[in-house]
Amino acid sequence: MTHYITTFEIDHIKILSSPSYESYGDEDFDIFNCPACKSIYLIDYEVDSIFLNPENLSAVFSGDVFSCSCCGFDFTGEVIIGAAANEKYKVTLEQIMQSDWKWILK
Ligand SMILES: [Zn+2]
Repeated sequence: MTHYITTFEIDHIKILSSPSYESYGDEDFDIFNCPACKSIYLIDYEVDSIFLNPENLSAVFSGDVFSCSCCGFDFTGEVIIGAAANEKYKVTLEQIMQSDWKWILK
């Protein structure tokens, strides 16, 4: 069975202490990927902020209609995180370890 990264494996403390991170209050992080180009994004689902760049957490998208910053894939109306999300949005351990987001894991 494929193991997908969940919110419980993400090190919230590391993210909150990142110098480029600006706090918005209650934080709950999860990750998802673009099914088209496999770009990985971090999301704070308390406030619907999407972090675009693993090396710069001040690059944030917060709006209603998110499309992939790499390929333009449209996420409108999709459940992208949590138990109800389609598998195509989930990120495997292998995938995150090969990405620049690996530092967010516990
Ligand atoms: Zn994409």
